[in-house]
Amino acid sequence: MNDSSRLVLVVNCGSSSLKFTILTISGEKPIVAGIAERIGLPDAQLAVRADGTKTVVAMNGNDHAAALSAVLAFLECKGLLDRVAVVGHRVVHGGERFTESVLATPQVLADIERVSALAPLHNPANLAGIRACLAGLPMVPQAVVFDTAFHQTLTPAAYAYAVPQELYREHGVRRYGFHGTSHRYVAAKTVSLLGLPAHDHGLVVAHLGNGASATAILDGRSVDTTMGMTPLEGLVMGTRSGDIDVGAVAHAGRVTGRDLAAMEALLNKESGLLGLSGLSSDCRTLEAAAQEGHAGAKLALEVFVHRLARHVGGLATSLRRFDALAFTGGIGENSARVRAMTLNHLAVFGFELDEEANAACSGGRAGRISRGAGPIAMVVPTDEESLIAADAARLAGLTSTPREAMSALSAA
Ligand code: ADP
Repeated sequence: MNDSSRLVLVVNCGSSSLKFTILTISGEKPIVAGIAERIGLPDAQLAVRADGTKTVVAMNGNDHAAALSAVLAFLECKGLLDRVAVVGHRVVHGGERFTESVLATPQVLADIERVSALAPLHNPANLAGIRACLAGLPMVPQAVVFDTAFHQTLTPAAYAYAVPQELYREHGVRRYGFHGTSHRYVAAKTVSLLGLPAHDHGLVVAHLGNGASATAILDGRSVDTTMGMTPLEGLVMGTRSGDIDVGAVAHAGRVTGRDLAAMEALLNKESGLLGLSGLSSDCRTLEAAAQEGHAGAKLALEVFVHRLARHVGGLATSLRRFDALAFTGGIGENSARVRAMTLNHLAVFGFELDEEANAACSGGRAGRISRGAGPIAMVVPTDEESLIAADAARLAGLTSTPREAMSALSAA
């Protein structure tokens, strides 16, 4: 079989969803993609997009295994299943055990299970997806790509919380960071687009979607990042608060009669852009409302940008030199307004906005949005699936070296 006929199945299992994409082994555009939603509920269903049309596929059951069986049956019926040469799985938390992507083995599965206490909502669902795939495609190698692995290069100075260290030693309480696949992809792509030396560069990547985080990347390695032990720390997000004084959390809990679990839920699900605006977690809605004079929407965008700029500035202190800031994620790739506000806030670094270029970068278009001699600001659309596919293909021996996999990415 040649490279264009061999395929990678990329699987991303959430607690109530299973997303999948079929790509070529060089990470080219999705051929088929789909999502099973409401897993665990009686009306779970799989929707698949293929050949430009969307089809709802029946599921025989409502768990992850049933969703995956429906995916495999659909692929078989399209004549694609025999061409799947490797499966790539996204796993949220690899703890300190996983510093890079690996092939799934019984030991790897046991180790993922062991770190599941760190991500009790996500890792069990990720594992369910891997197990279902191993059962459904027993002859196909399965690779596991961790959201946390890229940040395992952080030094203790960047990852330790200033708390009694037995909490770290006995319970793993430290900063891990997330969105690693996106940060790694966007950093490699930025280096390639700007022609920076692979082993001599300093970047900050701002991944701004419903979840948001920023990472400092020095010579290809993550050296600091805004998310912590969980994806709650750092930037303002759609419904997550990001950084907040724990004393404020304790006070708010006391005066409103909420216990710790209720406060944690409030900070994850009712805060961020939604809590600030009292209107929506969606940046597009907030931009439109701010335009109409909605005070909450304006405040939400201002806090979002202030926090982002403050973190970018802090992250830059871990670099030798600030070559470029790359915006990615739904907001980073599309919101010219948020990017403009952020660069204006970062003027102290010498960023100078190119308004025309900024307005032109949306809908998946990459490009430089700054001018002048200061650090370069870029828009670089992320593509986590391509990187998962590239890692999976490399681990299965379908591409010979990581460099080859990354250059396939840069060419994508
Ligand atoms: P997720 O983290 O769920 O993958 P995305 O990366 O898709 O999220 O980002 C979703 C966010 O991107 C939403 O806040 C959405 O409003 C925002 N977004 C998408 N398109 C635009 C746009 N044209 N202008 C402003 N914000 C946008």
